[in-house]
Amino acid sequence: MQSLTNRFQPVDRSPMTIWEKMYIPAIAKGMGITFSHIFKKNPTIQFPEKTRPFSPVFRGLHILNRDEEGRENCTACGLCAVACPAEAITMEAAERLPGEEHLYREEKYAAKYEINMLRCIFCGFCEDACPKDAIYLSESFMPSDYLRSQFIYKKEDLLIPDPKEDPEAYKKALGNRASQKKQKD
Ligand code: SF4
Ligand code: SF4
Repeated sequence: MQSLTNRFQPVDRSPMTIWEKMYIPAIAKGMGITFSHIFKKNPTIQFPEKTRPFSPVFRGLHILNRDEEGRENCTACGLCAVACPAEAITMEAAERLPGEEHLYREEKYAAKYEINMLRCIFCGFCEDACPKDAIYLSESFMPSDYLRSQFIYKKEDLLIPDPKEDPEAYKKALGNRASQKKQKD
């Protein structure tokens, strides 16, 4: 069969010599490679104590944004869900009641909002589709877990800290991508 790439190499099936059967050259070659790495610069870093700088276009875990008064920006319009190529986003809309103006910026809000992180491909289309500055892909990683159910992120998991109650945590969670995107827009 013809190879699809030029990386194809024929396998040498000739019988091994006695010297090769003793494996001494192979062991010496392997040890040589091992020792040569002792003098090379270590490419690994001691995560989480040290972290590499992210690329400006890195897209990490989603956040649901709030306005400067701490109200949820999302109006449950569904545009992010429609734009999502992986069909990872679902939500349920609810009407804001009198007295809830301090909680939700718009008259309609997302009573439930879920992202299935096992489906998500971190493309950022949801962020681009949102007209309300309500969803961003942050610069933080998604934590690992053993259960598939733990990867269905609910609104409580995604909501950013309240900027009035904890401005430092809000700023940290928002990261630089939100301001970079605003500058581009
Ligand atoms: S990043 Fe892409 S795949 Fe993930 S939820 Fe947003 S639109 Fe869907
Ligand atoms: S996150 Fe944005 S696009 Fe998605 S439902 Fe909320 S307001 Fe609409």
